Formats: sequence, structure tokens, C-alpha cells
Amino acid sequence: VLSGWGMHIVKFSCGCIGFAFEPQALVLDACDADRCDPYPSHMWRDLSDKTYEPLDESAARDLLTVVAELVDDGHSLRDVRRLLVP
Ligand SMILES: [Zn+2]
Repeated sequence: VLSGWGMHIVKFSCGCIGFAFEPQALVLDACDADRCDPYPSHMWRDLSDKTYEPLDESAARDLLTVVAELVDDGHSLRDVRRLLVP
């Protein structure tokens, strides 16, 4: 179900990792996130002034693993999909 999403994950110039949606990016791993938090904080951010480049495949896979854990953790897959694919 998650295959195909990895190619859309990018790394922004500030260090955030997520999806470069318009007008706001969905950040899965924030550059200023609390590293003690076991899960990346999911949030919409205006990163339109940042540049970004595709995340390499293994790093993207790691992120998708986190998404899968969110699903396992009780978030319905439909909710997570809605978050990732507006
Ligand atoms: Zn950032």
C-alpha cells in the first residue's frame, strides 16, 4: 500500500523531510523536532522559500516505515493516507 510514496519524499534545504505539497509542505521529520520524540511530528509548514531535493531511496524507505508504524499504532490507514495524499 505504501509503495510509490517514497519517490515523492524530499529533503528541504532547512533539513525538514516530507512531501513538497503546495501551498504547504507536509513535514514528516522536522528539522527542529524534539529528538526524544519517538515519532516524527506530522505538520503542515510553509516551506515555499526553501529548496528541496529528492530523498535517497533508503532514507525514504525509513520514513515510510515510520508511517507504517503509525498505522500499526492505531491510526487507521485511511486517515494516514488522507494525510499523505490530499
Ligand atoms: Zn525545516
